[in-house]
Amino acid sequence: MGGLNMSGRCIACEEKPAPPRVVVVGLASCFGCQLQITNAESHLLDVLGQIDLRYWQLASSDPMPEDFDVAVIEGAVTTEESENLVRALRARAAKLIAIGACATTAGIPGMASVGFLSRPVEVYGEGQVPAACGEMISPRPVSAVVDVDYEVRCCPIDTLDFVDVLQAALFGSNRMRRTATMCGDCKRNETNCFFGEGTLCLGLVTTAGCGARCVSLGRPCNGCRGLSPDANLASARAACGRYGVPVEDFDRALELFNQTDPALEGAR
Ligand code: SF4
Ligand code: SF4
Ligand code: SF4
Repeated sequence: MGGLNMSGRCIACEEKPAPPRVVVVGLASCFGCQLQITNAESHLLDVLGQIDLRYWQLASSDPMPEDFDVAVIEGAVTTEESENLVRALRARAAKLIAIGACATTAGIPGMASVGFLSRPVEVYGEGQVPAACGEMISPRPVSAVVDVDYEVRCCPIDTLDFVDVLQAALFGSNRMRRTATMCGDCKRNETNCFFGEGTLCLGLVTTAGCGARCVSLGRPCNGCRGLSPDANLASARAACGRYGVPVEDFDRALELFNQTDPALEGAR
């Protein structure tokens, strides 16, 4: 926002810059994260006042415009068509934001990645697969196709997290992306660890950032923010052994949101 006066006009020419043009696109997803955006209520109105929302797949059947500045993508990439769309969005948008577990880790669609290409025939029968299925490819997060500038993690996303990240995309931010696992936040919340009761909790290896929300509410973390780059899977498995949690349960639980994560693949 440098070079603007208090009314948002350029201090030199007095012109008001055009608001950033934003498009919101859904790929393979339940659209739950787009619904979360609608829950932003007054915050959303504040943000919408600063942007030109050119296209929102959930709210309009208008075609997507050619020109925009920020692309928000929900959902995993599961077809050649969606892969091409993501590449086209990346080529045109100055900033690209992936929202939700489906877009950031392949999430729930990623669970089906084993044997994925044979599934349409299993469901519809040989020669009966509808064209609407598209040219299917193994589910992958948006970051496996193009560079992603910002991510909003969780299933579903937290509405205020989205507003925060959108603001950062619009106006810049020097905030570092968090990579630590969740246990530090959990300890600061002074919550008892589930492992002490012999109960599995994936906070041990999951990317921090939600404030260990589920644990605070009395429920173990199921890993919806995705595997942390700092996660020590070998150490986590050893902890399972120490606390009487079957290691197979830990590995199976991780597949819910991390099935396509190469780190998991290498560690199994
Ligand atoms: S992350 Fe969860 S809520 Fe969001 S689109 Fe995927 S399944 Fe739906
Ligand atoms: S494993 Fe779960 S309950 Fe235990 S400290 Fe980590 S986040 Fe908290
Ligand atoms: S505690 Fe775990 S499951 Fe719950 S919101 Fe955070 S990352 Fe997702």
